[in-house]
Amino acid sequence: MKIQTLIIGGGLAGLACAKKLQTQSKAYLIVEKEAEIGGLCRSIQSRGFTFDYTGHFLHFKNPKIQQWILQQFPQGFQTRRRHAVIFSHQTYTEYPYQENNFGLPFEIIQENIHEFLNQQLLQTHRHKSGSSGHFEDWCYQNFGRGIAKNFMIPYNRKLWKFPLSQLTTHWMGRFVPQVKIHQMIKGALGQTQSSTGYNAVFFYPRSNGISALPKVLASNLSNIVTSQALVHLNVKKKKAVIANGTEIQYEFLVSSIPLPYLIEKIEGIPDTLKKQAKRLKATSVFNINFGLNIPQPIPYSWVYFPEKEFGFHRAGSVSACVTGVAPRNKSTLYVEYSYRGHQSNREQFKKDARRQLQRLHWIRSEKDIEVEVDLDLPHAYVIYDDHREKTVQHLLAWLEHYKIYSIGRYGRWEYGSMESAIAQGLEIAETIHKRSHP
Ligand SMILES: Cc1cc2nc3c(=O)[nH]c(=O)nc-3n(C[C@H](O)[C@H](O)[C@H](O)COP(=O)(O)OP(=O)(O)OC[C@H]3O[C@@H](n4cnc5c(N)ncnc54)[C@H](O)[C@@H]3O)c2cc1C
Repeated sequence: MKIQTLIIGGGLAGLACAKKLQTQSKAYLIVEKEAEIGGLCRSIQSRGFTFDYTGHFLHFKNPKIQQWILQQFPQGFQTRRRHAVIFSHQTYTEYPYQENNFGLPFEIIQENIHEFLNQQLLQTHRHKSGSSGHFEDWCYQNFGRGIAKNFMIPYNRKLWKFPLSQLTTHWMGRFVPQVKIHQMIKGALGQTQSSTGYNAVFFYPRSNGISALPKVLASNLSNIVTSQALVHLNVKKKKAVIANGTEIQYEFLVSSIPLPYLIEKIEGIPDTLKKQAKRLKATSVFNINFGLNIPQPIPYSWVYFPEKEFGFHRAGSVSACVTGVAPRNKSTLYVEYSYRGHQSNREQFKKDARRQLQRLHWIRSEKDIEVEVDLDLPHAYVIYDDHREKTVQHLLAWLEHYKIYSIGRYGRWEYGSMESAIAQGLEIAETIHKRSHP
């Protein structure tokens, strides 16, 4: 079989690329390992409830991509304001923590402000020690010891399950908002500031959960093969082999499968690259979703849990912020446990989740739970350590030399959003359009 562009992976990145190639009348084939397209943006329906692979809300940075997505989605999205909070010291405070201390115990607010000011003074007088470029130091230097100790460090330790002194700061960008002293004071005195951050307003389909988005993108794509994984790749001969043994000859290859897996499948790749790819790391997430037979128990979109006594780092309720995910007078909750390695200790997570939700009074007893759907995300958050920074660009450049474009959250091995996956798919289609013969 011969095709101009072979797209491996039918998540948002692969689908957007195919969509654009189709409008340019370029031949493509999507090969997807799972029975269904959508990747991380699939949704599970159970007894009238809809669950995503943990909270998935669309937010935009680039107006052009926003416009493109809205055009593809004539049925329109629900638009909502985020209501995210942090639970610590038995109190819910508004997100972001650093701007909204009101409600915390007096000593904690005092410590947060005092240490922040101390740190600012140190920086003004240039006593600042050189930054190591790692997250832990960055937290102390930007927020001071109070906010670092009371939120940033414990929360991120729980999330990453990786030493924060080895985590670089390249993933942060808009995900960790900085704070100014006047904002801290205002927030400590009770003037809530909740519009900070990249996702203060978000979009969500009216029905069928977040999976409605990839489904719309795929709706008029004719060339998709599902339940077939890429198993082998010969980059010199430009030949891919999929699980049923079919050999596919291509001119361009676009891959959105995890970068280390792509490298592993390449015949004759230099050993050094293979070893480098093997050392790329990720944190996994075990996501437990509950369909409840009670009305909405909490008003929050999601809640961050920095304290150790809660096994999960984040929990939330999709039905608190959008409609169409739970039957009338019923509701949904989800919790997220991160883990590293192959051992996810699921049974313990499941027990802990039910116990803690009762302690929080989000449910009265297990009888409130009608449905539980457990979902595993093996590469939820790629780890930005020094090795990643040295390796990823090198691997991507090697692949590009063979007209292989590795894109998407795991193809680029980055902390990306749905918008960025789509943007990369569109951009690569444009590159292929320019480089291919008419
Ligand atoms: C916990 C979590 C929460 C998130 N929340 C949000 C959010 O609220 N908002 C937001 O914008 N983004 C969010 N994201 C990010 C978003 O999900 C991703 O950026 C986006 O879905 C990535 O799309 P993709 O196409 O790059 O990758 P994927 O969705 O991973 O698609 C890759 C596809 O490749 C397939 N595949 C893998 N191996 C093979 C193989 N060998 N052969 C063929 N196919 C293969 C997979 O089955 C998959 O379908 C979140 C991510 C996580 C982990």
